[in-house]
Amino acid sequence: MLSRGATIGILGDGQLGRMLAQTAQRRGYKVRGYGQDAQGPLAQVVADFHRGGFDDHRALETFASGCDALTCEFESVPLSAIEIASQNAHFYPRSKQKSPFALAQDRLFEKQAAQAAKLTTAPFFAVDSLAQLEESLALLGGKGILKTRREGYDGKGQWRLKPETNLSNIWVQTPQKDLLIEGLVPFDFETSLIIARNDHEQVAYLSMGDNIHQNGILRECRIPGRVTQLIQDAAVQLGHQFMERHGIVGLIAIEFFVLPSRELVFNEFAPRPHNSGHWSLEGADRSQFDLLIDVMEKGTMVQPRLLYPTQMQNILGEEILNPEKAFDLFWHDYGKAEPKAGRKMGHVTKIDVKRSAKS
Ligand code: ATP
Ligand code: MG
Repeated sequence: MLSRGATIGILGDGQLGRMLAQTAQRRGYKVRGYGQDAQGPLAQVVADFHRGGFDDHRALETFASGCDALTCEFESVPLSAIEIASQNAHFYPRSKQKSPFALAQDRLFEKQAAQAAKLTTAPFFAVDSLAQLEESLALLGGKGILKTRREGYDGKGQWRLKPETNLSNIWVQTPQKDLLIEGLVPFDFETSLIIARNDHEQVAYLSMGDNIHQNGILRECRIPGRVTQLIQDAAVQLGHQFMERHGIVGLIAIEFFVLPSRELVFNEFAPRPHNSGHWSLEGADRSQFDLLIDVMEKGTMVQPRLLYPTQMQNILGEEILNPEKAFDLFWHDYGKAEPKAGRKMGHVTKIDVKRSAKS
């Protein structure tokens, strides 16, 4: 049980940590941050920010021992850091089986975890050599996406392959030599399920919507968009199955491809709040950040309701200096100093107040 005034610790320094901290503060919690960037999005909103590396186990121990519950707002955290933090306070998400972070950090383990829970994935092969790459691409009919198994985000560390692609050229470009190749999924659109599960095996989830990507980066979410009740019910069933099979307690986001047949194909999952859930701060009566705190509180899970049809747009580095700021948009600036091209600097949410979610 977390009670008023308890301290929630966040490993990381980015915008997810910032929005989680702001929600926790609104609900009466103290927040401590731990990360590299003492001027970053999270550090700007918490007075108690510890600057440190994730290999500094003593500093992590000191940090964690002052917290009542802990989480991590990015997924490539070293597992040893989570282990240390977990010895000192309840860590979310967690599992008595393999850590959800260990599953999410490696695309091969992640896809295998989806299959173990009986979710459909794209056809995939682990690739450790140029010969295996050639062989696997042929088995996939000449088209596929080669991905690094670790540390890819926003479409980085991915190569689209066609029958005419020069594979030797690609092979010298890859920073890691243990890779994964996936078949191309002919999807109609993409969606994601943000779902939380507590110690009593109760779940709650956000309403789902369309996720629109450009150049591998999420640009826009429309809720409900093309997601019908039937698609959402099917995704929730799969999400439930995945969390149950892997014993996960906490909040995760699962990205799905929706096929023309309306079948759902698992793409990947994140062991944390997700960019596609930012809209819930204004468009729902409980946000994705509330859901994570609900799990930490160990009370009954409350199902969020969609209040209005909602749209969320990411603002990238090249757009931050000239953003669209209309009165009916909720503007979120993450406070990042350097506006690099393709870097997520903020987002805007637009709620359609004229239509209630049910009309
Ligand atoms: P992020 O962390 O931003 O979600 P990522 O770098 O981890 O992205 P993926 O989610 O695997 O990468 O891929 C990024 C996008 O590329 C997907 O949202 C989808 O649009 C496209 N994509 C990835 N894999 C496939 C596939 N097998 N078939 C078709 N499209 C794909
Ligand atoms: Mg993705």
